[in-house]
Amino acid sequence: MPALRVLIAEDDASIRDLLQHHLAREGLNVCAAGDGNVALRLARNWADMLILDVGLPAIDGFEVARTLRREKRDLPIVMLTARTDEVDRIVGLELGADDYIVKPFSPREVIARVKAIARRIGKTCDAYPLILKFGRLEIDEAAREVRVDGARVRFKPREFSLLLELASNPGVALSRQVLLDKVWGFDFSGDERTVDVHVRRVRLKLEDERKLQGVLMTVHGFGYKFVVQ
Ligand code: CA
Repeated sequence: MPALRVLIAEDDASIRDLLQHHLAREGLNVCAAGDGNVALRLARNWADMLILDVGLPAIDGFEVARTLRREKRDLPIVMLTARTDEVDRIVGLELGADDYIVKPFSPREVIARVKAIARRIGKTCDAYPLILKFGRLEIDEAAREVRVDGARVRFKPREFSLLLELASNPGVALSRQVLLDKVWGFDFSGDERTVDVHVRRVRLKLEDERKLQGVLMTVHGFGYKFVVQ
């Protein structure tokens, strides 16, 4: 039985990171989106379940839920609402949300709700290595392989880890320091230019050699983000 793939759509980075951390630790496959556009794309192509903030940039959470239901997609949706206002909850449920959680919440509360939904739709919470697919690009975590149009592209281990980290958070800008910590580890003594060098190599292989368009985008003065194809 495959593990549940949970998409967290939340523009507040601290809440997103908190949820991602706790749900991943439970063995779930977790992906995060920072705006409604990315959330919609990932909800259509990847997710089994959606944790959806009401106040999202680009397209708000209500509109994301409404669009998914209009497209007859039945993935469970849990709305996150900052307001204690009952109207938000009622609107969310009327639009087809399965449940709602009012901020501030405890991670434990969210995990309990997510697990209940996993049981209901017959998924386990055991981690299994995921294959991320974005158009022509596939990132296979189990095989640690990158494929474009089904053909393998050779990546060095750090290049692979860097791409995987960015692609696991599509549309989310990650700072050079965060990438250093996650890909190289906290005890790495090199500087942030290391990240730039590796990003250049990933781009060379995917964008120049395989003609994928704009996979890794530079966020000036900050870091990089993976652009959903
Ligand atoms: Ca928000």
